[in-house]
Amino acid sequence: STSHKVALITGANKGIGRAAADQLAALGMTILIGARDPQRGAEAATSVRAAGGDAHALTLDVTDQSTIDQTATWIDQRFGHLDVLINNAGITGSGQVSPRDAVDQIPSTVNLDMVRTVFETNVFGVIALTNALLPLLRRSPSPRIVNVSSGGGSLTIAANPDGPLTDLPASAAYSPSKTALNALTVQYANELRKDGILVNAAAPGYVATDINNHSGFLTPTQGATVLVHLATLDGNGPTGGFFSAEGPVPW
Ligand code: NDP
Repeated sequence: STSHKVALITGANKGIGRAAADQLAALGMTILIGARDPQRGAEAATSVRAAGGDAHALTLDVTDQSTIDQTATWIDQRFGHLDVLINNAGITGSGQVSPRDAVDQIPSTVNLDMVRTVFETNVFGVIALTNALLPLLRRSPSPRIVNVSSGGGSLTIAANPDGPLTDLPASAAYSPSKTALNALTVQYANELRKDGILVNAAAPGYVATDINNHSGFLTPTQGATVLVHLATLDGNGPTGGFFSAEGPVPW
């Protein structure tokens, strides 16, 4: 049953995370909207509630350990457990431009500080938040962790010049950060398998959001479906996998 479960989604004030909040709320889950801007988070929570869902906004910047600690304390005091963690917050490092225009992602000229900033959010932030919340997830009867990755993080796809996706844009910071997130997903899944915590990576597809200046061809609602699927797996569900809405994605 998905009712009366508590789900935290990072970066849920807009885009794919926001759409996942709507969908999980419609299934009866209590949604904790993680947002680094309190006002944007409050607006999203208000709108989920206006649609009949149960939502609370939490100020959460995944690069700020103090807001991570505050989030864990708040959830502990209010609910005593967490059922679902969706690590959705992410940045490309290039701002809101189409990947084709992101010349600052060219490997030979990339700004190393930009790479560090991207990894800080997309990779290290996931470790920090996940570890802070694992004690609460362990108190759930069916804990699920969803790491929002990208098909761009697939080495199999990126290293195959004859594959279906030829002419991939350069992505020296963003794609490697998602490859690292995929690797972490496998590591967490292996550690937590014995505890019944299912950990999977999601590829939402190319979705029209601010992150790509709305150049994607899927809607946030479509992009969020694989997140929702992985957040609501039953006990026989996979762990340590990488999935799009169509099924498994090659590593
Ligand atoms: P958006 O830019 O619309 O949303 C990104 C969200 O992440 C925003 O809420 C943003 O907050 C938040 N965020 C960024 N940095 C932090 C931080 N340090 N702490 C907390 N929140 C943060 O993009 P999408 O919805 O498209 O992206 C969601 C996820 O999906 C990302 O991980 C992205 O890499 C992934 N993805 C997206 C694809 C697409 O085509 N759109 C394709 C593949 C993967 P704020 O509003 O404050 O900036």
